[in-house]
Amino acid sequence: MKKVFILGSTGSIGVNCLNVISNLTEYCEVAGLTVNSNTELLLDQINKFNPRFVVVRDDQAARNISGKIPKGCELLVGEEGLIKAAKETDYDIFMGAMVGFAGLAPTIEAVKRGKRITLANKETLVVAGEIVTKLVLENSAEIIPVDSEHSAIYQCLVGENLNEVEKLILTASGGPFREKDKSFFENATVDEALNHPNWEMGSKITIDSATMMNKGLEVIEAHWLFGLPSDKIEVVIHPQSIIHSMVQFVDGSIKAQLGLPDMKLPIQYALTFPERARNDFERTNFSAIGTLTFSEPDLNKFECLKLAYDVLNEGGAAPCILNAANEVAVDKFLNKEIKFSHIPLLINKALDKVETNFSSDLESIFECDRKTREYVQTIT
Ligand code: NAD
Ligand code: MG
Repeated sequence: MKKVFILGSTGSIGVNCLNVISNLTEYCEVAGLTVNSNTELLLDQINKFNPRFVVVRDDQAARNISGKIPKGCELLVGEEGLIKAAKETDYDIFMGAMVGFAGLAPTIEAVKRGKRITLANKETLVVAGEIVTKLVLENSAEIIPVDSEHSAIYQCLVGENLNEVEKLILTASGGPFREKDKSFFENATVDEALNHPNWEMGSKITIDSATMMNKGLEVIEAHWLFGLPSDKIEVVIHPQSIIHSMVQFVDGSIKAQLGLPDMKLPIQYALTFPERARNDFERTNFSAIGTLTFSEPDLNKFECLKLAYDVLNEGGAAPCILNAANEVAVDKFLNKEIKFSHIPLLINKALDKVETNFSSDLESIFECDRKTREYVQTIT
C-alpha cells in the first residue's frame, strides 16, 4: 500500500488524483494534502480521505481552519510547513500537482529522499531541470510524468532503448485560438482565453494553452525527462487531443499513445507504474471520433512557443526568466492589467533586461525567479 502526498489537492489535477485514489484502494492511500487557501474543499477531502497531515499555505486560511481539523491530522502552515512536510513526513509517492514555481522547493526535498515523484508541475523541470534530474540520479528517486504528453511518451518508451529514438512528437490541441488570426490577440478577452476546447484545467495552464506557452514549457519538460535536444522534440497540432504524443524511432517506426482527453489516466498510470490497474473510465470510440487531423504550429502567431525553444537552446538563466515572466504576465492578463498580446512582449522584455550572475545552483534559480518577478511587475 503506497502512501501518497498530494501537493495542490484542491486544483484540477489534485481533485482528479483523489478521484483516482478512491478507486485504487488496493494500491494507495492518502498520506497528506496541501492547498493554498481553499480550506472548505480541503475539509471535505480530510473527512473523506483521513490524511495524517495537511499543509495550508495561506496564513489567514490556516487560522480559519485550525479549530476544525479532526484529531490525528496534523496541520502545518506556510512555506515552512510545506518544506517540513516534504522533508519529514511519512509518504512513498509525492504528487506534484501545485501550479508554478512554488512547486520547486518541496519537489527537491522529496527527490532528496529518493521518493517516487509523480509530476504534473512542469514548471519545476522548466526552471531547474538540470538540478532536479541530477538529484534524481544521485538519490535513486524517480520521476513519472503526469502531463499527458509526457505520460504518452513514457508509455511508448517502455521496453525501448533511448539511443534508438529519432524524435519525440508532442501533440498540441492548439487551444481556443487555433483558428484565429494573430490580430485577434489584441482584443482577446480573459473569458475567451479560458474557454479551452478539450481540457478542463486550472486558469494558469489554460491561459498557457491559449498562448501555446504550455506546449513550449512541455518541450523543455520533455528535454529534461527524456534527455533529447530541442531539434529532436517536435510539436504538431492535433485538435482532437486523442493522440497524446508519439515517439519516432531510428527505423522510422512510430509509436503513439491514445485515449480520451482525461487526466485521470496519466495520473493513475504514474501512481501504479509499472503495473496497470483496471478502471471504469470512459473508453475511446473511434467510429464516434471519426477523424484525426494534424498540422504544423504557426510560430509567428504563437510567439510563446518559439520563445520556449529559444530559451531551451540558450540554457543558463533563460528558462527560469521565461517561466517567471510568464507566471507574472499570465496573472496580469487574468487581472485584466495587460492585453493577451502583451504576454510574449513582457517575456521578451524580461529576457532582454533581467541580469543575473547565474550559476546552475538552486540559490541562483531562486534569485533569478525573484528578480524577474520584480521586474515584470513594473512593466505592462
Ligand atoms: P490549479 O490551479 O487547478 O490547482 C493548483 C493547486 O495548487 C491548488 O490546489 C492550489 O491550492 C495549489 N497552490 C497554488 N499555489 C500554491 C502555492 N503557492 N503553495 C501551495 N499550493 C498552491 O492547477 P492545475 O490545473 O491542477 O495544474 C497544476 C499543475 O499541473 C500545473 O503545473 C499544470 O501545468 C500541471 N498540469 C495540469 C494539467 C491539467 O489538466 N489541469 C495537465 C497537465 C499538467
Ligand atoms: Mg500537457
